[in-house]
Amino acid sequence: MRYGIFGDIHGNCDALMAVLEALDKDRVDVKICLGDIVGYGAEPRECIKIIRELGCMTLAGNHDHAAIDRLDVEFFNAFAKQAALWTRQQLTDEDKQFLAGLGFVDHHEHFACVHGSLHGPELFNYIATIFDAELSFEALDKPVLFYGHTHIPITFFDTTPMTFTTEGEIRITSDMKALVNVGSVGQPRDEDPRASYGIYEVDDSSGEGVVYIRRVPYDVSSASRKIIAAGLPEPLAIRLELGK
Ligand code: ZN
Repeated sequence: MRYGIFGDIHGNCDALMAVLEALDKDRVDVKICLGDIVGYGAEPRECIKIIRELGCMTLAGNHDHAAIDRLDVEFFNAFAKQAALWTRQQLTDEDKQFLAGLGFVDHHEHFACVHGSLHGPELFNYIATIFDAELSFEALDKPVLFYGHTHIPITFFDTTPMTFTTEGEIRITSDMKALVNVGSVGQPRDEDPRASYGIYEVDDSSGEGVVYIRRVPYDVSSASRKIIAAGLPEPLAIRLELGK
């Protein structure tokens, strides 16, 4: 089975379309969205529409919750807060209902998916350090966890001592555990502006397989122009060009 796993779209329709096209070329069987459909970008409604039409498993991200007033934006930085308040005004009741219905964890036989971390999915904690990774390893009873939230593609392994890689091909065996961050579709932060997503090719009986972290170019200037035209903060447009 081939899974296409992607998230942190952040209202960036140009990047989302490029990733979906790439997933179709990659002939994935199942698509899974790790959340943060909205926030930062200028096309939150368009992105929700596309995801709804896909009908794929979609998890809740912190920006999705901020957009429906379930998360206090006082904890956001100034630009994120401004974008979250703007996004709230754009969404229809139907859009908000859709976001309100998203769950926190998607369990499969051989892997699990979450937006932020497995040790507190509804708190949207980050897996940014080895300490954070340790907590999610303790909560993981399968070989792989797919997550996002930091917008940095990186994989942690539960070796002693713990190791990690930023390589784009990760072999998964049933006697190991890995936390795989598939990166961000609409706001990459690893200084590579191309949209990021993951493909998981797994043998359904053994649970062994390979994860590929893929990058696809998209029209970054189109997405940043839309941010400026919407009256959103200019740094949100510039960061797309820089990939950070
Ligand atoms: Zn995000």
